Amino acid sequence: MRLIFIYMNKFEELGLGEAIIKAVNDMGFETPSEVQEKAIPILLDKDTDIVALAQTGTGKTAAFGFPLIEKIDSKSKITQGLILSPTRELCLQITNELKNYSKYIPGLRTVAIYGGASIMDQAKEIKRGAQIIVATPGRMQDMINRKMVDITNIDYCILDEADEMLNMGFYEDISAILADTPKEKSTWLFSATMPREVSTIAKRFMHDPVEITVGHKNTGSENVSHEYYVVNSRDRYAALKRLSDANPDIFSVVFCRTKRDTQKVAENLIGDGYNAAALHGDLSQNQRDLVMKSFRNRQIQMLVATDVAARGIDVNDITHVINYQLPDEIETYTHRSGRTGRAGKSGVSMVIVSKSEVRKIKSVERIIKKSFEKKEIPSGEEICQVQLFHLASDIGKAEINHEIDSYLPSINEVLEEFSKEELIKKFFSVEFSRFHNYYKKSRDLNASGGDREGDSYNSDGSTRYFINVGEKDGFDWMTLKDFLKEVLELGGDSLSRVDVKESFSFFNTNSEYQERVLSVFEDFKMEGRKVNVEISKDSGRSRGGRRRRDNGGSGGGFKGKRRSDGFKPKGKKRFDSNEDRGSRSGGDRGRDRRKRSDRR
Ligand code: ADP
Ligand code: MG
Repeated sequence: MRLIFIYMNKFEELGLGEAIIKAVNDMGFETPSEVQEKAIPILLDKDTDIVALAQTGTGKTAAFGFPLIEKIDSKSKITQGLILSPTRELCLQITNELKNYSKYIPGLRTVAIYGGASIMDQAKEIKRGAQIIVATPGRMQDMINRKMVDITNIDYCILDEADEMLNMGFYEDISAILADTPKEKSTWLFSATMPREVSTIAKRFMHDPVEITVGHKNTGSENVSHEYYVVNSRDRYAALKRLSDANPDIFSVVFCRTKRDTQKVAENLIGDGYNAAALHGDLSQNQRDLVMKSFRNRQIQMLVATDVAARGIDVNDITHVINYQLPDEIETYTHRSGRTGRAGKSGVSMVIVSKSEVRKIKSVERIIKKSFEKKEIPSGEEICQVQLFHLASDIGKAEINHEIDSYLPSINEVLEEFSKEELIKKFFSVEFSRFHNYYKKSRDLNASGGDREGDSYNSDGSTRYFINVGEKDGFDWMTLKDFLKEVLELGGDSLSRVDVKESFSFFNTNSEYQERVLSVFEDFKMEGRKVNVEISKDSGRSRGGRRRRDNGGSGGGFKGKRRSDGFKPKGKKRFDSNEDRGSRSGGDRGRDRRKRSDRR
């Protein structure tokens, strides 16, 4: 007797057709993710607007991609679906996924359009017929203006990563694009978080949307633990190195706020012997692809990235996300921490903050609805311990290279007189002493610890600064205050005690703006002349050089290409650098707040 099993796969139960099911099987998807399970039946069943909130890595692409493909008429060449997405990388990623999903549907074409590539080529692709267009808002708007695309007949418009698009300042482009689409279409909005701007879009452009939420609203992954470390801002870089050294198997993304900081931190790390690289919008596409390739195959252990550049990263097994600086928009933190803890793995999101930023941790906690653990930057000794055991375990795991065999008799002769224990000790001394010497003089980096230098708050919660402009530059206290208000983007209440002398002046700000003040003036010129601002320790008298940096440093990198080469003697270069280099690369907040171009 023959038994016939009617086997219904979980995706079929959602109502998907044969062609997609076949593709799903090819991709190896077995069960729908939660957002897919919730969204797909609704979208297949009726034409409705939808707002779907689910964190990154939960399979949102298929949640809108499957029903979209089901609904598209592949016999017609008219553009029927438009997907807007924040970056080139995501555009390409979505396009690839959609092509995979629709590979058994002949005639269905998906075309990606994005900036930084030939607009003419893209226009040609569209002319050949594209039922689905995946676009970045900027390029889309451009092509609409040049009449290279026609979206006046679309039935479906999808806003993917809506929060991120709005974060990047695409509100106006999105509004203009939506205004060009027919009223009767369905709008599907997918987002990890629901900041005010996203609800504004939903209210303005959507009709009675079905709302689905996966997990808690705005919550980061359950598998991610959150930690913060308080240091003086000039110790940020040193702290980053310690955090890395204390986690020898780290595979991480380090987030900075600006392209400049991203580049600087990466360069410093590379100079200190770490396997690091920068990822930001100033790199060519080719360079970015290379960086991502090296990261994916683990030649890079620390990828230093801007928020925007990191949006397309879908690398699994990232062990740590390090927030070198907190993001401007607290909501962005969810995206950052969502890079780790994917696919059921656990991950850690670390935040390095200065004392004035500690209160921001509370805001992040409110948004992610999880609490942070305050932790201490490990001491040099702790790091040495960790590294020592790591080295031992690496040695234990190392595969033996039998090419050494023929030298063994002579080596044995040299080492004959030593016991196994002595040999081990000697071996570790050779491998480890330099590292140990480097860290043994290291100081406590925790801002609450012994070193309170750089803690320059006055008892009234303000910081006093020296600035090298004064009456001879045409300032009086009122005009200097106006000038400061403008360049620092501060309200008048936050500035006080502006005291103008002949060739220099003093002023106070609330201490929370200390980093902003220092970074705005880090590289500031007025009529060709460098304007220098320093923290004034004794309310008006000190006006020496820049704040002295503590060069009695410690700690170097201890990174080799462990993953690829196995255990390897460490080059000398790694121990020469100063732990404090690249210090005070704090926020460029004031100056860059509106310059979205510096975030990419
Ligand atoms: P999101 O847009 O929510 O950040 P993606 O759609 O990019 O997430 O999906 C993340 C990863 O999970 C992708 O590599 C995708 O191929 C994979 N994926 C999506 N759905 C499933 C599923 N049902 N089963 C297994 N893997 C899936
Ligand atoms: Mg996505």
